[in-house]
Amino acid sequence: MDPFCYKDGRLFAESVPLSTIAESVGTPCYVYSRAMIEQQWRAFDNAFAGRDHMVCYAVKANSNLGILNVLARLGSGFDIVSVGELERVLRAGGDPAKVVFSGVGKADAELRRALQVGIHCFNVESEAELLRLNALAGEARRHARVALRVNPDVDANTHPYIATGLRRNKFGVPIDTAAALYAHAKTLPHLEMSGVACHIGSQLLELDPFVDALKRVVALVENLRHQGQRLQHIDLGGGLGIRYRDEQPPSPQDLVRALIEHVDKVPGCRDMRIMIEPGRALVGEAGVLLTRVLYLKHGQERNFAIVDAAINDLLRPALYDAWHEIVPVTPHGKHETRVYDVVGPVCESADFLGRERKLALTAGELLAVRSAGAYGSAMSSRYNTRALPPEVIVDKDRIHIVRRRETIDEMLETESVLPD
Ligand SMILES: *Cc1c(COP(=O)(O)O)cnc(C)c1O
Repeated sequence: MDPFCYKDGRLFAESVPLSTIAESVGTPCYVYSRAMIEQQWRAFDNAFAGRDHMVCYAVKANSNLGILNVLARLGSGFDIVSVGELERVLRAGGDPAKVVFSGVGKADAELRRALQVGIHCFNVESEAELLRLNALAGEARRHARVALRVNPDVDANTHPYIATGLRRNKFGVPIDTAAALYAHAKTLPHLEMSGVACHIGSQLLELDPFVDALKRVVALVENLRHQGQRLQHIDLGGGLGIRYRDEQPPSPQDLVRALIEHVDKVPGCRDMRIMIEPGRALVGEAGVLLTRVLYLKHGQERNFAIVDAAINDLLRPALYDAWHEIVPVTPHGKHETRVYDVVGPVCESADFLGRERKLALTAGELLAVRSAGAYGSAMSSRYNTRALPPEVIVDKDRIHIVRRRETIDEMLETESVLPD
């Protein structure tokens, strides 16, 4: 299902023309399809069939309260990486008992708050964190449920900035030292060692790295079982890729089936709960960034389409050299097709949304930057004192503004000049 389709020469989000949204909310602006987010979440959830499992949406992919609310209503769990994300989940109606907390650098205040609200599990990434969590749990008179995040040393075949499962990455504990850490953790009175977690990277387009990581994780679980330590769950993290251009990622069903098949090969693992933490795959293709062409600049060497969205709205092209499809909202064919660099107004040469795109453009027209639902608005900033982009969720023929455009006063609210 693609919720962004042309009807009568106009690009729609579900049953709403994108031009209507641009008129009411202005540009730049993110637009998401509720139906597609729900479809993707259910694809993961249904693939587990009757098996004990938990789908925890990785909040960092898109942390808008409206998106979290859509997922909370489905009964989703959440994977968070900060106390700010925890508060978002709570405000969006998420269940703290379905929250897992990942991240290499959890501060005391973050651990305390998570203990207080009773999250499902802490995915601990170092021995030092294990000791700290034990101490804080003792102070709070709570038990912390823990999974060690192991680093399986698997090459995810993805962009180096989003590969996390190699020995050289900062994430997790090396898998060959994990058994010793579990033995140590068993002696810590305020921790309950409940699972093992890993996350090897993002935008993975093959199943093999997932399966390789899982095999190593399952071997660890077996090893621990022989030493008398039984774990309840395996958390395989997120990472499933999406289509930006012509990629053909495995489907959620393919991924889940492959995971189940390999877990079930090991008798001691068959009754374990399987958890996954998809982010990009739930929201990425469900969102577009709407932008308007401000100026066309036709030069001898290059043609530029200068649009009102910029690097501060969508960082991915600059940060990862990511390719996003850019399409006209109302194709008109009035002007000749030329090759354009589609760039924003920000004072950086890295400020581009797409390079060398064949487009027939007129100043003032609308463009949609596709597959922008994940790591788009979530990575936006106010660089150049530009407002954060508004966000809209389309639900069939209705639109919900889930983040309105901020005013200049709001942007400057927390700052001050020096006293006299
Ligand atoms: C980022 C992250 C995810 C989500 O990754 P996607 O590629 O967006 O699915 C899941 N788990 C952890 C620990 C992460 O850091």
